[in-house]
Amino acid sequence: METAQRMPIVENFELFERMAEHEQVVLCHDPSTGLRAIIAIHNTTNGPALGGCRMYPYKSFDDAMEDALRLSKGMTYKCAATDVDFGGGKAVIIGDPQTDKSPELFRAFGQFVNSLNGRFYTGTDMGTTMEDFIHASKETNCIVGLPAAYGGGGDSSIPTAAGVLYGIKATNQTLFGSENLGGVSYAIQGLGKVGSKVAIGLLEAGAHLYVTDISEESIKRMEEIALTTPGTLKVVTSEEIYSQEADVFIPCAFGGIVNDQTIEKFKVKAIAGSANNQLLTEHHGKLLQEKGILYAPDYIINSGGLIQVADELYGINHERVLAKTKHIYDSILEVYKMASINGISTVEAANKMCEQRIVNKAKRNGFFTTSLKPKWAFGK
Ligand code: NAD
Repeated sequence: METAQRMPIVENFELFERMAEHEQVVLCHDPSTGLRAIIAIHNTTNGPALGGCRMYPYKSFDDAMEDALRLSKGMTYKCAATDVDFGGGKAVIIGDPQTDKSPELFRAFGQFVNSLNGRFYTGTDMGTTMEDFIHASKETNCIVGLPAAYGGGGDSSIPTAAGVLYGIKATNQTLFGSENLGGVSYAIQGLGKVGSKVAIGLLEAGAHLYVTDISEESIKRMEEIALTTPGTLKVVTSEEIYSQEADVFIPCAFGGIVNDQTIEKFKVKAIAGSANNQLLTEHHGKLLQEKGILYAPDYIINSGGLIQVADELYGINHERVLAKTKHIYDSILEVYKMASINGISTVEAANKMCEQRIVNKAKRNGFFTTSLKPKWAFGK
């Protein structure tokens, strides 16, 4: 009898080697809606995995898997830094957000999330909207970041901006021995949802701002607000913002802004803002340390939004969210102290702090285990 030649799907155990640190990777396929998604669960020591769902026309399965693995690991650190009872996870849907979306596709995705029985909570990310997750939420309770009318917390930029202001206070405390926001100068890149709120908080405290945005409307609005506050404001170009003689640079526009070119230009004493993935590479955190520029790790200082979505699962309470957001001040101070004592970059210190918190939690659990469902989820 002839033996059929079988093609190997994946050579050796390569896939398991790639997910060496991850607990679980789920491939989701629904031919009737065209859904092709990957859910990556990195670590659930701190609680069920939490992380957004990205939709992107990935060129290959490899690229999609890489994104899911990398981003889910980042969420483990972000959750540990923030002290919410969640671990790290992330989902990616392979497809073009402009052409491949349908309510049925997100319902199918919701069914896959539901099949994980509370191990994974998700919501919007790049390429997905609250509207998409209203469809998904018809199939599962494990959706966060919904509009207020659907039990969600609403605009996450409010707690995010509050967290950035606490992070700046901790930075000023470390630089000047006083957490006062006033009397200090700041260079703000981006006056969008988060940047504008941070700018208003600083102007009200009597700060001196250099600001830039590619939107003339946002600039004009901020100039008008500045007229009624004790602070002062000067508009500079997108290029000039990096070389301002300010005390603190506040990136609130896009990632990768700490790179070889900008490090040459910076004259600030610290960088503390909301943008995700501010360092082009982790090595740039080391270069900032060498240049004596204090860096507030982005995933800690911008975690106010995460605190809000995590709170939704308890029944959103904005006062509680803001109370928890205050702890960003303590976490940033702890990271600065740890970095200074050990002579390491603040990024290395932040990662060590998070890893230690996870190890401590695992010890409290008695052994490395996962909490499949938090107590409060049973009532839902
Ligand atoms: P946003 O889109 O509302 O604001 C971004 C602003 O940056 C816009 O006003 C835009 O015009 C401006 N901008 C774009 N390119 C620019 C350039 N070259 N020079 C100057 N300005 C430029 O976004 P947002 O919600 O305020 O978020 C800002 C950053 O913070 C993003 O990196 C985001 O990922 C991150 N973040 C936001 C939240 C949140 O809750 N919104 C939470 C965590 C992290």
